[in-house]
Amino acid sequence: MSFSLGNLFFGKNKYICVCCKKRLDKDTAHKYIENIGVCKDCFSSFSISSPASPYKGRGYVKYIMSPFEYTGKLRDAFLKYKFDNCYSYAPLFALLMEDYIKSYNIWTDFDFIVPMPLHEKRFKERGYNQSELIAEYIGKITGLPVRTDLIYRIKNTQKQSLVYGNDKLHNVEKAFSCTENLKNKSIIIFDDICTTGLTLSSCSKALHKAGAENICALTFAIHEQKKLPIIEY
Ligand SMILES: [Zn+2]
Repeated sequence: MSFSLGNLFFGKNKYICVCCKKRLDKDTAHKYIENIGVCKDCFSSFSISSPASPYKGRGYVKYIMSPFEYTGKLRDAFLKYKFDNCYSYAPLFALLMEDYIKSYNIWTDFDFIVPMPLHEKRFKERGYNQSELIAEYIGKITGLPVRTDLIYRIKNTQKQSLVYGNDKLHNVEKAFSCTENLKNKSIIIFDDICTTGLTLSSCSKALHKAGAENICALTFAIHEQKKLPIIEY
């Protein structure tokens, strides 16, 4: 898969902000990679989580680390990434997470990162797993191996954002299965967006059942923050 976004390449100005589409230079860019970036103005509009202050997890997820709130310009850019074939945004999104990731001194305690799997049917529809693509770069930042072969979806769940109340729990319950024994393993689940924490929780149950002891989660962004209090880790 190629990560160059040819149609955003304009003349000598190599970098384009994925939020406002302005051309970037050294003075206006916050972060950039390959042909894209985020300008300082757009980045300043993002709701940023405090460093090293995770959210309380559910199920066997001890805590959830998430650098951004899923809102505004960040959400708009993410929707293009996820649903509009802009998979080349993956390294940029990982890069935007880098400072936050490095505010945690935990990475050597973990064995590997497991990206949230898509059901085979949804993978075929979309053509890529948006969590897996970002996780590949998170692996480089944290130095952890990324394992895409450990867990899979046995149930093609509805999007959690389209399900209400108690149905959210039933929707993702028993949706995952593990492929190998994970006795004594410490695992980071990487998901793109944390909505209620229930999908992460369901995934953690499958990992726990396979023997994993220490499970935490990292997501690109989080919403409905009210439901997930900030905790000490
Ligand atoms: Zn911008």
